[in-house]
Amino acid sequence: MAFSENKGSVVIQTAGLTKRYGELTAVDHLNMEVCKGEIFGLLGPNGAGKTTTTLMLLGLTQPDEGVATINGLDCTRDPIEVKKTVGYLPDNVGFYGSMTGRENLRFMGRINGLEKEELENRIDGLLERVGLTEAADKKASAYSRGMRQRLGIADVLMKEPDIIIMDEPTLGIDPEGVRELMWLIRDLADSDGKTILLSSHQLYQVQRVCDRMGIFVQGQMVACGTLEELGQQINSSGVNTVELAAYPDNIKLLDILKEINGVMEIEKNSDLYIIRSSYDLRRALSKKLTERGYTIMHLRQAGSDLDEIYRKYFEKNGGKDGEDDREGKKRDKKLSRPQSAV
Ligand code: ATP
Repeated sequence: MAFSENKGSVVIQTAGLTKRYGELTAVDHLNMEVCKGEIFGLLGPNGAGKTTTTLMLLGLTQPDEGVATINGLDCTRDPIEVKKTVGYLPDNVGFYGSMTGRENLRFMGRINGLEKEELENRIDGLLERVGLTEAADKKASAYSRGMRQRLGIADVLMKEPDIIIMDEPTLGIDPEGVRELMWLIRDLADSDGKTILLSSHQLYQVQRVCDRMGIFVQGQMVACGTLEELGQQINSSGVNTVELAAYPDNIKLLDILKEINGVMEIEKNSDLYIIRSSYDLRRALSKKLTERGYTIMHLRQAGSDLDEIYRKYFEKNGGKDGEDDREGKKRDKKLSRPQSAV
């Protein structure tokens, strides 16, 4: 879905949003727009500034500079009004384990001023919506993490927010649970028109569910767009990268690869050749290797999935995936490259 081409109205907006903790700039002049009915992924490793951004949107921490608005309301000045339209799902939802899923929802519903029939009807509808009808009367302590997240979504939906902010929703959930959760999140946007901002470092899940993504590195959003747009931006350098494994993997193979027109650089990582070239040479490569009697075991144009796109952005901006990237500037970037250069 190309939201950048066909935008709804902007509901979440940040302009120059900045948060410092002493010397550290956790969020650095963030400009972000999320449109109505859109699922927007804030993507970055631990310590990139995702949670800090979320906290500023919820009015739970004050920015040092810039402004964040939701539905035109200033998140810092009007946090109570903002919270009326926003539901927040933290990464580790807390429930009373000794109470059932239904009882937990009832408890939250009452806090939100719902009573009797209206409350019970809403609970039934929400349990159905998140696929927990059968497990409704089991104790929450017996729920899997995926079920707890779905109960968390039901809890968030209790007050019928237009906007839902989710922090690492897929963390610690098995693949089947992730699939169900992603389906639910997608449906909340598609069927109910909810606007969803989710932060995650789990790229694969995000890739599947988000309309657009913002890549966060060291407090800065270094790129933003649909998966296709991100791929185009990062691949506009004119360098194509292809991964190849062929049999037999002998010394002659390397010589043949070097002879192919347009090849700029070849690296070898275990049994995989990583070939950089000035154009997409997959066709030329397979023709030449087949002619010479080689069998191609693996041939893939790199840079076409989010992991690859993300890694490229991340390397370009001096970070290292999976760790607190504040250390990234000090690190030798070669560490994240294939081990032996040919
Ligand atoms: P994670 O998924 O690990 O929470 P994140 O992308 O959400 O990562 P933040 O939690 O926003 O990142 O943290 C951004 C940076 O700000 C980190 O370096 C973190 O150590 C720092 N930070 C966050 N909160 C505080 C605080 N209250 N005091 C000082 N530093 C903080």
